[in-house]
Amino acid sequence: MKLKSLNDLDFDGRRVLVRVDFNVPLADGKVTDDTRIAAALPTITELVRRGAKIILCSHLGRPKGQVVEEARLDPVAAALNSLLTAALDKEGLGPVQVAKLGDCVGPGVEEFCANMNADDVVLLENLRFHAGEEANDPNFAKQLAALADVYVNDAFGAAHRAHASTEGVAHLLPAAAGLLVQQEVAALSQVTGNPKRPLTVVLGGAKISGKIEVLESMIPLADSVLVGGAMANTFFKARGLEVGASLVEDSMLDTANRMLELGRQHSTEILLPSDCVVTDDVKQPTRTEIKPVDSLARADSIADIGPATSQAFGAVIGDAGTVFWNGPMGVFENEAFANGTMAVAWAMAAAKTAHTVVGGGESVSAVNRAGVADKLSHVSTGGGASLEFIAGMELPGLTVLAV
Ligand code: ADP
Ligand code: MG
Repeated sequence: MKLKSLNDLDFDGRRVLVRVDFNVPLADGKVTDDTRIAAALPTITELVRRGAKIILCSHLGRPKGQVVEEARLDPVAAALNSLLTAALDKEGLGPVQVAKLGDCVGPGVEEFCANMNADDVVLLENLRFHAGEEANDPNFAKQLAALADVYVNDAFGAAHRAHASTEGVAHLLPAAAGLLVQQEVAALSQVTGNPKRPLTVVLGGAKISGKIEVLESMIPLADSVLVGGAMANTFFKARGLEVGASLVEDSMLDTANRMLELGRQHSTEILLPSDCVVTDDVKQPTRTEIKPVDSLARADSIADIGPATSQAFGAVIGDAGTVFWNGPMGVFENEAFANGTMAVAWAMAAAKTAHTVVGGGESVSAVNRAGVADKLSHVSTGGGASLEFIAGMELPGLTVLAV
């Protein structure tokens, strides 16, 4: 997939509406994880270098078309200010002061944007305070377009949504993908298009249902698929094993069998755990035990893959040319059940010559907890977007930028 790039547009002295993904976690009015803000800095810096008037816009949380005080972007503006100042300083640029506006459309915002100078940086208020954003309302898109001369989308995490700021507005202004979007697309394309072999896909997490498209498109393509997390439980039950009180999706048993059959058809090895960590209660455990997966009792809940499985998965990852990972191997939020997830993270970090890519909200926080983010080829800023991309689905925010 080839997207229009920053080199296709002229920015000098022009107002650029830049859709970024600043949907960051907040606590006590402060940004607690600035990964996504940092990921947008290369594009913003490049636009400053090229003399643009920069108008940044993002959503935050789910305010659902209403003004929600806790979802205002002021803490984001503060974090952006210091990160951007440091980034520009490194390049001998700046300084700039990020101006934060109280809304994202309307006469006041239009007037402010009309009077910007080159290198000014403005952050608009949360797009989702207006219902027109998620509805991709043409009028709302028109109001956004009225602020600028050109449009850049660098919000990979929102690219699977056809919203006014990710899709609608791209029809109304000369448009291009930012550097982060280009980088995401390049890294993920390297997994699905002509990957270095063997290609290993590691899937886990809570449910199959959100990931069935990834299984369906990756089983034919991959050499091996390693399944952990609660997702594996549904496969166990589909095979007739006792899963006790483990989290299982009963509506997905047929699907799980169909995936195993798909694996046989394509000679793709689908590796399920051989042992697991069981507990009485994954939320409030009072006992834990390692068991082979075929010897569970009624009262057991699977909370993690076991040590033999961690080793087996690690060996496959170690031999891989390409690894894509989504979904933790266990309830890693609890240290007692984090070993399997950490083992996968470390095995990927150790696979130095492999192209290693991680996507997914909890998976990325697991990678950060393991301290290996900088040892992987690519850590995606998009959860749902990275999965849909890997599954070969159309991402409306990208399609509209295609060359
Ligand atoms: P991601 O956000 O990386 O896409 P998911 O949202 O699919 O991942 O799944 C993450 C969640 O799956 C984690 O919060 C983890 O606690 C949960 N999980 C993993 N294994 C199990 C399990 N065996 N039982 C219950 N929950 C699990
Ligand atoms: Mg998640």
